[in-house]
Amino acid sequence: MDWNALYDRLRAQTPGLELRREEPMSRHTSFRVGGPVPIMALPKNEAEVQQVLSVAALEFGVKPFFMGRGTNLLVSDAGAGLLVVKAYDGLNRLELLPQGEQPGRSTILAGSGVSLARLANFALECGLTGLEFAQGIPGSVGGGVYMNAGAYGGELGQVISSVSSVSCPSEEFVREFVNPQFSYRRSQFQEQDDFILRACFSLEPGDPAEIKAKMDDFAQRRREKQPLEYPSAGSTFKRPAPVDGRPVYAAALIDQCGLKGLTVGGAQVSGKHAGFVINRGGATCKDIVELIAQVRERVFRATGVTLEPEVRWLGMEGEEWNF
Ligand SMILES: Cc1cc2nc3c(=O)[nH]c(=O)nc-3n(C[C@H](O)[C@H](O)[C@H](O)COP(=O)(O)OP(=O)(O)OC[C@H]3O[C@@H](n4cnc5c(N)ncnc54)[C@H](O)[C@@H]3O)c2cc1C
Repeated sequence: MDWNALYDRLRAQTPGLELRREEPMSRHTSFRVGGPVPIMALPKNEAEVQQVLSVAALEFGVKPFFMGRGTNLLVSDAGAGLLVVKAYDGLNRLELLPQGEQPGRSTILAGSGVSLARLANFALECGLTGLEFAQGIPGSVGGGVYMNAGAYGGELGQVISSVSSVSCPSEEFVREFVNPQFSYRRSQFQEQDDFILRACFSLEPGDPAEIKAKMDDFAQRRREKQPLEYPSAGSTFKRPAPVDGRPVYAAALIDQCGLKGLTVGGAQVSGKHAGFVINRGGATCKDIVELIAQVRERVFRATGVTLEPEVRWLGMEGEEWNF
């Protein structure tokens, strides 16, 4: 792939577009690991997104990788041979729409680059309830929709009424998905090559004092239970399927197996929350992958439960990931 040619073409086609060459992904992931990608584009508006996608896909046959705040991404130390399109502060529309789609409810529209914390705070300012759980999730609206992010019994899918996206390659028009499909940490967007542009959230009116109290309670619980002082990607593993009808939690299984504090290089199973793999300083992606593999193997041997990573990974073509 001639990355110089793609870079020059993007530069010429969209002069105002923020483009970076050989950008280290460690600057863009909450794990603080990851080697370079040949090109990163940071569009400031939806028109720029569409221009990047059409040049990349139609003229160069390149399928870009889309990202938000990199809080659920593990990127190889060697980097990845990809054009990364990052939804960040530029895609920051955030509005209370004039009329709700359903009686008694109001709709907030949020661009994919808006942080979930800002979205949750905006809902509070509007006196709307339903997004309190999202305040402490450090991702973006785009990444949150893609992952169906959730916490404390709430999930974005429960309050999303529609999602607008552009597909890649080829279609220039915006597609709207009304009532898209969500399940635990899954959305239909995981089966599509779409860039999520924005989402609408349908929310009920609530008492601002109660909304605020709930948000403060969740934030307090996170501070107490999660190793927020270290780089991580949050929970490393998904919640396993129930066993004999009883819920099973990855963190509890890892703890039971005595794996808190297990260390590979700079990566460690947090002593505060066994569900988190943290970067204690200087961890490489290789350290994290090795640690995840050891945790999975030891939990499987002791309990028979296979832990599935929640974190998404990116690497060079053909690279083996020994999870
Ligand atoms: C300290 C900490 C706590 C966390 N707590 C929680 C929690 O309580 N609940 C929870 O669910 N998660 C949690 N997470 C994980 C993470 O914040 C969520 O998964 C979040 O939704 C990821 O959003 P992001 O913008 O960072 O996405 P990224 O990590 O950038 O990307 C994640 C996935 O979404 C895709 N994607 C991102 N943006 C777009 C877009 N615009 N269009 C198409 N695809 C896109 C990417 O391709 C990738 O596959 C936590 C992470 C950390 C570090």
